[in-house]
Amino acid sequence: MALPLTDAVLKEKAKSVGAVNGRLRRLIHHMQQTMHALKGVGLAAPQVGESIRLFVTGIRQGATGALVVVNPEVRRISVETEVAMEGCLSHPGKFLPVERAKFLEIEYVTPAGKVKTLKAAGFLARVIQHELDHLDGLTIEQTAQKQEEAPSAKDQS
Ligand SMILES: [Zn+2]
Repeated sequence: MALPLTDAVLKEKAKSVGAVNGRLRRLIHHMQQTMHALKGVGLAAPQVGESIRLFVTGIRQGATGALVVVNPEVRRISVETEVAMEGCLSHPGKFLPVERAKFLEIEYVTPAGKVKTLKAAGFLARVIQHELDHLDGLTIEQTAQKQEEAPSAKDQS
């Protein structure tokens, strides 16, 4: 449960998960425990030192329970955005305004190895985009700074 980590792992682009196996399930369990212990709403594998495309959220998705997402791919993302304050377990106590799409649809693999599609809006959409950034080696500081430097970026997407 050693958070925050050094920036090295957090700034790497994470690799796709090869196989959903016992080792991966143990890592998922560890990540969920860590997220709950730190009272977070989401945690990406690079935040616990594993540079792979996996994240968990504590936000319940109907009967399926909390979300575990392996190898996510964005299928659709709204042009419409909103700005809200965001924090990160890897940067305790730091909150920054971050612009995110209001809606997105992702395709991902479940811990059971099934391919699923998820439509998310509002807060869940924000959490997912935050975790996707972690998988691409981006911290909220970098994302917030990019948006400040290129305020028109949203008009081009
Ligand atoms: Zn984070």
